[in-house]
Amino acid sequence: MPDHLIFRGGIHPDDYKSLTSASATRPAPLLPLYTVPLQQHIGAPPKLVVKKGDRVLRGQLLAAPGGFVSAAVHSPTSGTVKAIEAVMGPLGALCQAVVVESDGQDEADTSLAPIPDWENTAPDMLKKRVADAGVVGMGGAAFPCHVKLSPPPHKTIDTLIINGTECEPALTDDHRLMLEHPERIILGARILARILGVREVLLGIEKNKPDAIKLFRKTTEGTGVRVVSLRVHYPQGGEKQLIYALTGRKVPAGGLPMDVGAVVQNVGTAAAVAEAVLEGKPVYERIVTVTGSPVADPGNWLMRCGTSTADAIRMAGGVTRDPVKIISGGPMMGRSIYSLDVPIMKGTSGILLLDADEVVQYSGGACIHCGRCVDACPMNLAPGILSVQAENERFDLAEQWYAFDCMECGCCAYVCPSGRPLVQHMRRAKAEVVARRRAAQGK
Ligand code: SF4
Ligand code: SF4
Repeated sequence: MPDHLIFRGGIHPDDYKSLTSASATRPAPLLPLYTVPLQQHIGAPPKLVVKKGDRVLRGQLLAAPGGFVSAAVHSPTSGTVKAIEAVMGPLGALCQAVVVESDGQDEADTSLAPIPDWENTAPDMLKKRVADAGVVGMGGAAFPCHVKLSPPPHKTIDTLIINGTECEPALTDDHRLMLEHPERIILGARILARILGVREVLLGIEKNKPDAIKLFRKTTEGTGVRVVSLRVHYPQGGEKQLIYALTGRKVPAGGLPMDVGAVVQNVGTAAAVAEAVLEGKPVYERIVTVTGSPVADPGNWLMRCGTSTADAIRMAGGVTRDPVKIISGGPMMGRSIYSLDVPIMKGTSGILLLDADEVVQYSGGACIHCGRCVDACPMNLAPGILSVQAENERFDLAEQWYAFDCMECGCCAYVCPSGRPLVQHMRRAKAEVVARRRAAQGK
């Protein structure tokens, strides 16, 4: 019997991880140019603090948070600010970016002093460090970490969950991080637990990573962190699914993990927190999986933010044949990108290249009311009905039918026999509701 609960819905896609799971992380070469987007996180855009011609150091602040729900952005290397210009982001929209021309020295900024005595440092000081270092959710969501660590006073948090599931197919960056730096993740988890004031720390890892489970069971002895092996089931790493699997608590519709006393952070985020506190290192690099059948030498690289997709693919030896699709992230929740200039950001867990026979062709056929999408939806939604509402531009109805609970996991589209682009309908419905709300408020 599993030592965890099994959430409703979900699917079992081929995990497609064997191409890179045994590939130890390689350090990316220093590049002559980095194009660092300012908006790398969910929330308000940060404010530039440098200008063209400025000399900057590795880890130096380029942009300060533009509000509470925002994140600082730091330089990936030392050099000169060559330009401040608009670049294509992974969502297909232009975003402002700082172009840093490397001086080849990679000289570090030392503004953030290490905090070795973190166990005797006030939680608020540790939280401030997390914010100053620009730590965001490294699992792909890129939500500012310090915001999740700031529940309102009436919410009691008693459980910290560290997400080591990496349920997204094809990606192995978290797996490699867990194998290569387990102590860093555990230290980060303990720092996060101190900030939140919680005693219960659970680390969930899917069973397709038995080496990581074994390693963490050994490494966590005496640390207060409990490792739980989880069944391989997509989207096991969804916050609400993971909370249920590990605690049996159900986050209500429209609610947040803090509503059931939990905070979830990814293993990469925990490692980034440890680096920010113990080394004074801001987030300017991350592990990125570059994979897919057209890739000559698939693997994992420690890449600086601002590396172009073209440079990332070059690191992996280029391609053996032209891909028909390039995805930022994994095949289920990633986004197709339309330019090789799209930069690696804090939330870029992988670059996936696909051949023609691996790409889903949406036919957009009529809904035949088979109900498979309802069975597959882990959020208890009715994706078929929501998609028809979106097609008919009844976004008011889509909102009433809980479109905002959709986590865009793609399970519904994966099982739909009519090839309906269900996730695209969800995204459109949500975007239209937000746009209409803004228009009503005169924004
Ligand atoms: S409706 Fe949203 S949450 Fe439900 S399966 Fe589809 S993408 Fe996932
Ligand atoms: S799976 Fe596709 S065809 Fe079946 S009910 Fe859902 S949207 Fe309709």
